[in-house]
Amino acid sequence: MTDPHLHTLLSLTAADALGAATEFKTPEAIRARYGQTLSDYQPGSVFGFAPGEATDDSQMTVATLLGYARGEGPEGVLAALRAWLAAGPPDVGGLTRAALASGTLDGGARAWAGSGFQSAGNGGLMRIAAVWIAGFRGEALARESAIITALTHADPRCVYAGVFLTALLEALHAGQPYREAAGAALRVMDSLDARRTLLDQGIFGLTTRAAHDAFQKQEREARAAIRARVRSGLDGHLTSQSGYVLDTLEAAVAHARADSWLACIEPAVLGGDDSDTVACVVGAIAGARGLEIPAHLLPPLRLGHTWPGWERGWACTEHFPAVVEGARDRG
Ligand SMILES: [Mg+2]
Repeated sequence: MTDPHLHTLLSLTAADALGAATEFKTPEAIRARYGQTLSDYQPGSVFGFAPGEATDDSQMTVATLLGYARGEGPEGVLAALRAWLAAGPPDVGGLTRAALASGTLDGGARAWAGSGFQSAGNGGLMRIAAVWIAGFRGEALARESAIITALTHADPRCVYAGVFLTALLEALHAGQPYREAAGAALRVMDSLDARRTLLDQGIFGLTTRAAHDAFQKQEREARAAIRARVRSGLDGHLTSQSGYVLDTLEAAVAHARADSWLACIEPAVLGGDDSDTVACVVGAIAGARGLEIPAHLLPPLRLGHTWPGWERGWACTEHFPAVVEGARDRG
């Protein structure tokens, strides 16, 4: 039996790699080109990823784990994310690039201020499973998820969505039924004072006072919106597969209810738009549920980028165990 954290990392990466072919496409264009099913890696990525190569979502998850292995906490994660970015990956979100440019823990808060406190993309949510994979549990998991999300995405919708997702992974791994696990994760989200956590970490401070105040003003509404979207997803509703964090969260909660790994992932892949990221989040949830990844998806699995600590040609099955162990030992 594969280690559950390693299994979850493989699951989210395989899902991301399946979605790489359909990112930005419409459901109609996807069905015209690939047919009604998409159960194996396909060519056609707009970023030139080869079949079996996973995108920035999985790459940043692995970079976060490589960062924990440095034994320097969030500072080490930030350094590792910057090392990944410096190697010129092909697909980087705008807020992520702006946030990582400064090299300080408050870069995400400053980038959010630079967006006029509007930007709430899914670029923090897509990589936050790394915190659970690194071995954080309980309240420490909730706090760390807030901090690591805010390194690039400091909007309270992004921060609390990240806190919810890792709490959901923990509850599902503990064997709770899906709906109960989501309820437990919402309670974890509601009990965390993320603003205080980000203050304590120095993400909010003198230079990010405006971001702090905006967060404080918006966080009640943000948590209410997440509760509503989670409930909607639990009922099978999804608004869109856009890159807006609440759309991604709702879609992922809806898709990941299915009975098998492929039944969870395939609708995300066929749904197009930000399909790789939606699939990646679904893959994390399916992994924590222990759903079995189709065997044919594992041998070809790669990350589509080379940066310090990772080679593009490396097989994920071969090199992920050391990534997970390294993060767990030092994280
Ligand atoms: Mg991507």
